[in-house]
Amino acid sequence: NKYIVIKQNIDGAPEESDFELKTEPLSLSIEPGKDEVVIKNLYLSIDPYQLNRMKSPCAFQQSMNFAGSVIPGEAIDGYGVGRVVATGNPEFKEGDLVSGLLTWGDYSITKKVASKIEAAMLNKVETMGLPISYHVGLLGFSGVTAYAGFFEVCKPKKGETVFVSAASGSVGSLVGQYAKLFGCYVVGSAGSQKKVDLLKGKLGFDEAFNYKEEPDLKSPLKRYFPDGIDIYFDNVGGEMLEAAVENMNPFGRIAVCGVISEYTNKGRRAAPNMVDVLYKRIKIQGFLAADHVKGYKDFLSTTLEHLQVGKFHVLEDISHGVESIPSAFVGLFRGDNVGKKMVKVAGD
Ligand code: NDP
Repeated sequence: NKYIVIKQNIDGAPEESDFELKTEPLSLSIEPGKDEVVIKNLYLSIDPYQLNRMKSPCAFQQSMNFAGSVIPGEAIDGYGVGRVVATGNPEFKEGDLVSGLLTWGDYSITKKVASKIEAAMLNKVETMGLPISYHVGLLGFSGVTAYAGFFEVCKPKKGETVFVSAASGSVGSLVGQYAKLFGCYVVGSAGSQKKVDLLKGKLGFDEAFNYKEEPDLKSPLKRYFPDGIDIYFDNVGGEMLEAAVENMNPFGRIAVCGVISEYTNKGRRAAPNMVDVLYKRIKIQGFLAADHVKGYKDFLSTTLEHLQVGKFHVLEDISHGVESIPSAFVGLFRGDNVGKKMVKVAGD
């Protein structure tokens, strides 16, 4: 059984050398303990928020009550889909496809799944005829994040103008498509011309720009939003948030989904002009997908409808094998990925 650990806490941009591959024997012939489930991992979700768990202890980690800190030298847990290979828990049988908190490695051993908290983290997966990988990204957390953030937090009206950052990423690409299908004008930012072409071509964004080629981020927003921005779906924070606030319309809404530019930044951060926020009466709201799972049925029915009529493009970026986890993760912060980054650990 191979698995990945961090060697020490990571306080800036992560590097592959911060990680280590460990190997230990795993005897599957041993009966699992009472309530234990042994899972062969199939797909592991690679998510930017994990970096915040890897930092030296800091204040906001206490608010991340859905996930504790990652301890150097110890196995890292993260969302994924796998198959039950041995079980001491009557709720699961061998061969069940499950999703939940797995280990960044070949196998996961989930203890005490009968306890309330842990049970909530391991669910049986109904594939509904869709690829297993869809249950990691689209029907995992990316989809519900995009759907809840856009519809519940931003409360859009048809015809409104929407700006999405990290728009070719897992969440961003879905937000842009929900917004277009709902009837909004949508502009996305991304970090390469290839990504910009994808947004304007395949994904149907009205406009897109490469923020790395813009010396002043306020200019493209003025160019593409001559009448101002009604909704900003923020995946990156920092200077982009500052530029967006300057271009927001009165009563605009900003969903703070992620702040990736700040996860790696130890120094002083860019901040929006709060006088603008005040007089334009802008609503800025952070949110976590985990708080919105109650609306999952709406999310699922809308998303399946879009998929069935071929209107939705699911972007996936898959690396292979446990050894690829560090580069897959580090690549998120370099913009290597297009769409949902995941690691395929084993075939179905
Ligand atoms: P993505 O698939 O979007 O991957 C991350 C992307 O962010 C990269 O490809 C890169 O694209 C961009 N990026 C990296 N560094 C920077 C930077 N310094 N400045 C600007 N852009 C950068 O990841 P996800 O879709 O999984 O997540 C997107 C955001 O949403 C993250 O901030 C994440 O933490 C957050 N999130 C929040 C959730 C919630 O419940 N609130 C749930 C899931 C995700 P590019 O080439 O465009 O730079």
